[in-house]
Amino acid sequence: MALHNDRNYGDFIPVKRSLGGVWSNIVQVLNITVVEGIQLKNYFKVAVGNGEETSFWLDHWIGPKPLKDSFPLLFNIEEVKDCNLNCCLGNRNDMVRLKWRWKRPLSSEAEINEMVGLCSLLSQVELNQEKDEWKWFGPSAIVDPDFSVRLVRQLLESGSNRGVNYVPERCKWIPDKCNIFIWRAEMGKIATVDALNRRNIDVGTVCGLCGDGEESVDHLFTSCDVASLLWAYICNWCRCANIVAFSFKDLIEFHNHSGFEGKKKDVLKGLIRIGCWVVWRARNESRFKNSEVNLNHIFGEVKRVGFLWFSSRKKCVSTSWSDWCKFVNL
Ligand SMILES: [Zn+2]
Repeated sequence: MALHNDRNYGDFIPVKRSLGGVWSNIVQVLNITVVEGIQLKNYFKVAVGNGEETSFWLDHWIGPKPLKDSFPLLFNIEEVKDCNLNCCLGNRNDMVRLKWRWKRPLSSEAEINEMVGLCSLLSQVELNQEKDEWKWFGPSAIVDPDFSVRLVRQLLESGSNRGVNYVPERCKWIPDKCNIFIWRAEMGKIATVDALNRRNIDVGTVCGLCGDGEESVDHLFTSCDVASLLWAYICNWCRCANIVAFSFKDLIEFHNHSGFEGKKKDVLKGLIRIGCWVVWRARNESRFKNSEVNLNHIFGEVKRVGFLWFSSRKKCVSTSWSDWCKFVNL
């Protein structure tokens, strides 16, 4: 279960390598993302059972981080750095039995101090017959012990002070009203159901587009079925990779990760913003006029409004409707 970087014992992660290229991206994100002073990877921890699948030094199973980081001097003189938990300790007569394999006897005061701290930490450990299991120990784990992407997102948002520091890039070929809408949405300052509920205005919780999920900025523009299909249509039209967005910010930054450069990248940036604008209008039409939500109509509107704004506002660029519809000819 424990997966390690064999060369430097640096990257331990409770994620399968079979994820291929995605795996290295996940490792990178877990390593570089720090929330409230703690690396994201250290919010995952092994709930120890029989200790057979947990690395004593490398996995995060006790304390605030892996033992190799908490007790680096001892780890340095450990002979078997990837030994499992059940090889290093066991329970006998209700006492924890410790088994060490040092390259040499402890010599410095600092090493002895680390040893005292480690023994103190281990004194309460008890192995049992259950299998070891990785668990999420984020701040909300107390109320919701099951791991989900939503919990990670909540943690990231709580640490990022959403909207205070981040200002979305302006797109020059769409009108200011559209750019400002994007900025306000990113700050959570549009009248979604969850925003109204926070102001004690009870309008239910249901999304005005799909009638299913709880309506919030992130839901409306990323996880809502209607929005998800719209982004799939747009990506298909633009011939770019599918949009993977867990938050509104991910969505409006997507053009930077699309592989496009120059004019195409600029157009995609604007199209995603226009998509949000049109989705919001469709949501209002549905909520206030009971209009039917028609995905083909929404997609057609994105194309039509996009062409109108791009051809009239992007100076020195002549684009025909047929080229626009093919996109690849831009
Ligand atoms: Zn929805």
